[in-house]
Parts: sequence; C-alpha cells; structure tokens
Amino acid sequence: AKNAGKNTVCFFDPALQEQIDHNLELSRGLRLALDYNQFFLEFQPQVDRKGALVGAEALIRWSHPELGLIPPNRFIPVAEETGLIIPIGDWVLRNACKQLQIWQTLSKAKHLTLSINVSSRQFAQSNFVEQIKACLNQYKIDPKRLELELTESMLVKDQNDVITKMLELSELGIQISLDDFGTGYSSLTYLKRMPIRQLKIDQSFVKDINMDLDSANLCDAIISLGHSLSLEVIAEGVETLDQFEYLAQRNCDLFQGYYFGKPSSADQLLKLIS
Ligand code: C2E
Ligand code: CA
Ligand code: CA
Ligand code: CA
Repeated sequence: AKNAGKNTVCFFDPALQEQIDHNLELSRGLRLALDYNQFFLEFQPQVDRKGALVGAEALIRWSHPELGLIPPNRFIPVAEETGLIIPIGDWVLRNACKQLQIWQTLSKAKHLTLSINVSSRQFAQSNFVEQIKACLNQYKIDPKRLELELTESMLVKDQNDVITKMLELSELGIQISLDDFGTGYSSLTYLKRMPIRQLKIDQSFVKDINMDLDSANLCDAIISLGHSLSLEVIAEGVETLDQFEYLAQRNCDLFQGYYFGKPSSADQLLKLIS
C-alpha cells in the first residue's frame, strides 16, 4: 500500500489540488443553490447617447450561506464544466422573463430591453429555442424586449446549427448581441451570415481609450465595422465621462458601465427613469 501511492505523489501539486477541492465544493454548493434560492439577478443600465435608459443586462449573483457573495467569473466556469449551467441558465431565462413581464405593466418601463448572457453549452442544447419560446409564451413577453448575449467563440462550433438557431430566434423577434466583441475569433464572415443585431465592444478596449491609441483605434474600428453592417454598437465598461465622450463622438449607439450605474436591483434601476 505504501508503494501504491508513489506515482500519484509525483504529480501532486498542492495549488492545483486546492483548486480542484474548491471547485468540488463549489459544484456541490451549486447543486443546492437552485433549491435553496441562493441566486438572484442584478440589472445594469444600458443608456443611449443622451444618457436615457434603454435597457439593462441581467447579471447572476450567488449568495452562498457560508462563503458570501461568489462572483459569476468564479462559479459560471464550474457550472459549465459540471453541466449545471443548463438548469442555472433556465433559471436566469425564467427570471429575466418575470422581470420583463413586470416592466411591461409599468408605463415608464415598457420600452426597456433586457439582455441575458447565454453560455455555449446552453446554446448548444437541442431544445434551446423551444425553451425560449415556451418562456416567452408563459410570461407573455414581447420577444423584441429580450436580447441574448452570445460570444464569438460559440459561433465557430457547429456553424449550421448556430445559424439555424439564430434564424429561428430572430424570426421570433429576439435580438442577438455579440458580447466581448474583438476578443475572440478573427474570422468575421459570421457577421455576414448570421442575424446579429448588436456588437458589444469589450471593456478591455474601453478601459484604455484615453491612454492608449491602439485601444481607441480598435473602438473606432469596431464602431465603423458595426455601422457599415447596419448593426447597433454598445460599449461596456464605461467608467468615466472621458470614455463616454470619446465613444459618443465616434457615434457609438449605446453605453453600459459604472459611469451610468453599477449592477443593482430592479427597483434601483427604475429610479434612473425620470
Ligand atoms: P460580461 O457578460 O462581460 O459582463 C460584464 C461584467 O463587467 C459584469 O461582471 C459587470 O458587473 C462588469 N462591469 C460592468 N460595468 C463595468 C465597469 O464600468 N467597469 C468594470 N470594471 N466592470 C464592469 P460580473 O457581473 O461579475 O459578470 C462577469 C461575467 O460572468 C459576465 O461577463 C458573464 O460572462 C458572466 N455572467 C454573469 N451573469 C451570467 C449569467 O446569468 N449567465 C451566464 N452564462 N454568464 C453570466
Ligand atoms: Ca440592449
Ligand atoms: Ca454580457
Ligand atoms: Ca465582457
């Protein structure tokens, strides 16, 4: 028995092991989180060039009983690995629709759109479009109010499947936005082939706009590219007036970031409407 452990000892890496243990703990916790109602959504404002609220992005939060608030960057990858992203993604969709249903009954919030983040594993499910459709029907949502944020990396997997789904979604009236645009794949042919309505400039480019010419030029290029294809362009991670002014001057259509508001409760969000 003493020798049996020899090989495994060679490969033992305490840091890696700690990471694995922690992920295991997270995945156990994630299994319970849905049953115990530990998730909630926050809403971050999206505004137009005049600063008027046009919509929000829904961002998931996990309030763990012992570990406190766990950021999505920490648990979404674990959820993707374990497949738990499927029920979690359903939960997000359902709760986003519930929120949209409430907004539809309020005259001052009727016009708002709500974007949700869709993970690649969720999008790849064969019944993905059906689930969206069922949810829209159940909550009687105007499909135009729901936006799906997809990332470039999910567009390259099974292009025919992706295009079929996108066509079905856009036929329903649902809007598709390309998240983290500029950080993914260099082949842009999908922009021509897919019914995408919006490009979202990644915050890493926005961050350095006023410090680094390359980032500014990249933002300019994305805005021009988007507009030349009749796409709406939104910038994320706008933190300062300077960044907003720069992007507005370059005709960026919409803006999201701490400068306009951090992710917050739905009640807090509506306070931004005068
Ligand atoms: P993302 O989709 O790129 O979301 C933008 C992230 O930037 C959010 O972090 C948001 O809080 C943050 N942010 C917004 N404005 C600013 C700003 O001005 N400055 C800075 N520094 N950050 C800003 P968050 O909420 O921690 O989410 C991180 C990522 O987790 C998201 O990145 C998204 O990929 C993922 N995520 C969040 N909610 C969901 C969800 O419901 N489903 C899935 N599949 N993924 C989600
Ligand atoms: Ca939007
Ligand atoms: Ca997003
Ligand atoms: Ca991003």
